[in-house]
Amino acid sequence: GLALELTDLRKSFGPTEIIRGLNLQVRKGHRHAVIGPNGAGKSTLFHLISGRFPISSGSIKLNGEEITGLAAQQINRRGLSRSFQVTNIFPKMTVFENIRCALLWSRGYKYSFWQMVAKQRRLNEDAEAILERIHLQSRGKVLAGFLSYAEQRALEIGLTIAGDPDVILLDEPTAGMSNTETEQAVELIRSVTEGKTLVMVEHDMGVVFGLADQISVLVYGEVIATDVPADIRKNRAVQQAYLGEEAA
Ligand code: ADP
Ligand code: MG
Ligand code: MG
Repeated sequence: GLALELTDLRKSFGPTEIIRGLNLQVRKGHRHAVIGPNGAGKSTLFHLISGRFPISSGSIKLNGEEITGLAAQQINRRGLSRSFQVTNIFPKMTVFENIRCALLWSRGYKYSFWQMVAKQRRLNEDAEAILERIHLQSRGKVLAGFLSYAEQRALEIGLTIAGDPDVILLDEPTAGMSNTETEQAVELIRSVTEGKTLVMVEHDMGVVFGLADQISVLVYGEVIATDVPADIRKNRAVQQAYLGEEAA
């Protein structure tokens, strides 16, 4: 089945149409990369899917159900979670507190004070488990602003997976990293998305071709091709519009 199905999606900012009749299908359990030039609309697409911005027209289905028009938190509670290209962490809170916040957000803040007290132990255990999954268990008490850049990006992934989503959107998760950091990030992404659906915007073709089952190429607000990595490399239209010598 399909984890995501976007049909004739459009988004304008004022007079400018940024997403222009976009169609995209992502199979459940796949790792799907969205590639394309700067300004093509990749981050905007994530904002639309995750409910951060309203769409202008079209349809978005998550696990076969229409989510068009739902608020970001409702979409999150239906199992879709996204990272932000600009890190979304609270620098003056500890790493552990950041994770607790993400857990509370995804669980809906609906608890009364006494329920919260009763749930503290569970919350702390779950936050610890996430710290381990992102290999920051020794950094829990550190203020998030004092983490290295690569550690901050790992924390960002931790915040994204806090609600145990089955569809995970990551926006340029390895941007600005060294080769070694990128390799570690790829392993982390692979492990936290095992058995889940991943949609990833990424410019590093090593990362894309290393992780993706399917690739969609987004140019000028439209998906111009979706295919398996080997065939995306050979696609003439894709080479002309984006990959050029990178794919050769
Ligand atoms: P990408 O992530 O592919 O680099 P973006 O989705 O960030 O591209 O941006 C696509 C286009 O939409 C850009 O031209 C950008 O200036 C424009 N854009 C993005 N957000 C807004 C906004 N809130 N208001 C107006 N224009 C925007
Ligand atoms: Mg960009
Ligand atoms: Mg972007």
